[in-house]
Amino acid sequence: MATRRKKTEEPPCSEDGDSDTRSEESKRAKKEGDSSHYEHMREQRIKENKERMQKLGLFDLSLNLKPPKKDPPEKKTKNTNHSPRRRSSRIMSLEPVNYSEKGAIKGQYKKENKENKEKDNLEIVIPEGTNPEVYTEEQEKLLGDCETTWELNVDGYDEDGDRIYDSIKGEICHQCRQKTVGEHTSCNKCELPQGQFCGDCLYTRYGENVIEANGNSKWTCPPCRDICNCMRCRREKGWRPTGNIYQKVFKLGFKSVAHYLIKTRRAEESDVGEVAEEMSENSAEATRNRRTRTRRSLDFIG
Ligand SMILES: [Zn+2]
Ligand SMILES: [Zn+2]
Ligand SMILES: [Zn+2]
Repeated sequence: MATRRKKTEEPPCSEDGDSDTRSEESKRAKKEGDSSHYEHMREQRIKENKERMQKLGLFDLSLNLKPPKKDPPEKKTKNTNHSPRRRSSRIMSLEPVNYSEKGAIKGQYKKENKENKEKDNLEIVIPEGTNPEVYTEEQEKLLGDCETTWELNVDGYDEDGDRIYDSIKGEICHQCRQKTVGEHTSCNKCELPQGQFCGDCLYTRYGENVIEANGNSKWTCPPCRDICNCMRCRREKGWRPTGNIYQKVFKLGFKSVAHYLIKTRRAEESDVGEVAEEMSENSAEATRNRRTRTRRSLDFIG
């Protein structure tokens, strides 16, 4: 099959035999003369027909009746955007699309989309509890600090990077509730197990270094300072657990979870009053207020 196809594709053999070339040539000339005469006549007829049709208005009509030609080569030159293209009268009035500009807009859109996604990823959502979460100036002052960075996932971890849990030698951490080996704090005020925090929890949740805390005879535990953000302490206040938000608050520029919570939920004295008022309001009152607010906004639109 392949060989046969190849043969047909080859050009026919040229006739260059030297016998009787003259008569052959004359024959061919005659033939060519005939064919050119025929071609001329044919073109003439087509031209006459066209003219006749144009006079009758049929030529344009016949063009309109033809289905629109598909033009594959034009697809290839889609992005060149240099020469004006044949357009229907319907879209002739429209601005030609600048594809390079369109590409730029698309790129910008992608970039914005990516930025939005990153923003979304840093968005911290703590479900609302039964009480509003607000902090006082005093609590903000009691936020801790550290002079040296505490290296996470090292103290109390084995060579493979696994945490060492030990029910006998280990100490329980007030925050993560795990009995692990490694440094733990002890509170100089309450002297209770509630003052025991592991190094990683103390650093990520309060921005303090366990070594520094243990070297400070005045150090008191987060529960004693009323800034504890562990699951149990938050629940007692009517707040929902924060979840593991350290990476996010750190990326947002906060030293710790406690710093994030207190600095973003600091209430002014007037706010505290408002919050107390809001808490005393019964739900029916709150619903009525909301309705009034909605109606007011609708009135504004109307
Ligand atoms: Zn812990
Ligand atoms: Zn304490
Ligand atoms: Zn706590």
